[in-house]
Amino acid sequence: MYNPKSTKAEEFISHQEVLSTIEFAEKNKGNKVLLQEILEKAKLKKGLTHKEASTLLVCEDKGINKEIFTLAKKIKEDFYGNRIVLFAPLYLSNYCINGCTYCPYHAKNKHIPRKKMTQEEIRNEVIALQDMGHKRLAIESGEDPINNPIEYILESIDTIYSIKHKNGAIRRVNVNIAATTVENYKKLHEAKIGTYILFQETYNKESYERLHPTGPKHNYAYHTEAMDRAMQGGIDDVGIGVLFGLEDYRYEFAAILMHAEHLEAVFGVGPHTISVPRIRKADDIDPNTFSNAIDDETFKKIVAVIRIAVPYTGMIISTRENKDCRKDLLELGISQISGGSKTSVGGYYKPEKEDEDSSQFEINDDRTLDEVVNWLMELNYLPSFCTACYGSGRTGERFMSICKDQQIHNFCHPNAIMTLNEYLLDYASEKTKETGHKLLLKEIDSIKDEKIRFSVIQNLDKILKGERNIKF
Ligand code: SF4
Repeated sequence: MYNPKSTKAEEFISHQEVLSTIEFAEKNKGNKVLLQEILEKAKLKKGLTHKEASTLLVCEDKGINKEIFTLAKKIKEDFYGNRIVLFAPLYLSNYCINGCTYCPYHAKNKHIPRKKMTQEEIRNEVIALQDMGHKRLAIESGEDPINNPIEYILESIDTIYSIKHKNGAIRRVNVNIAATTVENYKKLHEAKIGTYILFQETYNKESYERLHPTGPKHNYAYHTEAMDRAMQGGIDDVGIGVLFGLEDYRYEFAAILMHAEHLEAVFGVGPHTISVPRIRKADDIDPNTFSNAIDDETFKKIVAVIRIAVPYTGMIISTRENKDCRKDLLELGISQISGGSKTSVGGYYKPEKEDEDSSQFEINDDRTLDEVVNWLMELNYLPSFCTACYGSGRTGERFMSICKDQQIHNFCHPNAIMTLNEYLLDYASEKTKETGHKLLLKEIDSIKDEKIRFSVIQNLDKILKGERNIKF
């Protein structure tokens, strides 16, 4: 029944295979010989199977766990260096016809204000986001064919890309909208989106159907097979994720890796990113009513083992997590974070009044982008506003093969330096500028290839003189 090459949801995410994976993992969680073998394989930095990774996940041996965390940090460092990519979500509309029980935008919620931005409002939001320094957005919208048809999404993407305010520009629009048809994915691809993001929420079919009692999202197979259709539509960067807290985390963990294996088996390229949101309080949602909540320690272990299992896949956390938790997770594997986020429809240009709150969830990190950038640099990270791979056609399989060979540093590191310099010149506070300039000197010094170093120095001079969007 289990077949990663199948295009049927219930075969590539086989319930039986997930259950036997959990059983195997639990049976072997004290098997030191096996655990060491898996760790040795992981050290080759070519990844692990869902079964191997699941066994590491549930292991309770302190020594092995310490090794897992150390290896996750090492792999993070080898593949991503100290770069952290920054982005912001932009909610276009919270009209939704689905009945998801964990989301306040569900159709039965009659008291949350329903909003849908006009193109003029989107323009104002984007200018506000550009003025913060953002270059990469993730647009979000509820599912509603009347209020938010694909034409509205496409028009909004066009609007976003068209706005050039001062030195600002949104250079990559990632899209998080409901599962749709190959034809619509083709349209999104033609609109030049970056990553298509769709969270599975939960891979357990029975739980999925219970948590999505009404609306088109109720269809488990249609939702789970969405990434296959996206890839058939020409989108080669897809982002997957689950909402931790809905189901047993061991189930979600095994299944998300099976999803990654399926995409690799069928399309030759795994997911571009994996997101790891945890359920949060929202308008009419009480996270305590979901019994599978995970504590911080388990959450960190999940991130660390995903990092080891799919070393070349980016990992994202949002402002659902607080500053301290984000700090720990950055070390263990996260490569992208949001900053200065609003989870309401609008709110960047003009803050919402309290009685008009349209947020999807409460955020736990409400610092400004400038504060987040400064904080990252003080922790010795290199904040990156780079979107160059996308602009240079390094997507999908091409991106993955550069990444697997660990060649990505040669592009990403110089590009991160240059885009950070743009940020410092155009948007940073005096304090952030000061921290940033010290960091830039150190980062330039660390470029080993003399030609690249020289070229970066020349480009930084061009940026100082007003040129923008120079890339490797
Ligand atoms: S999760 Fe998405 S589909 Fe479900 S109610 Fe919320 S906005 Fe609608």
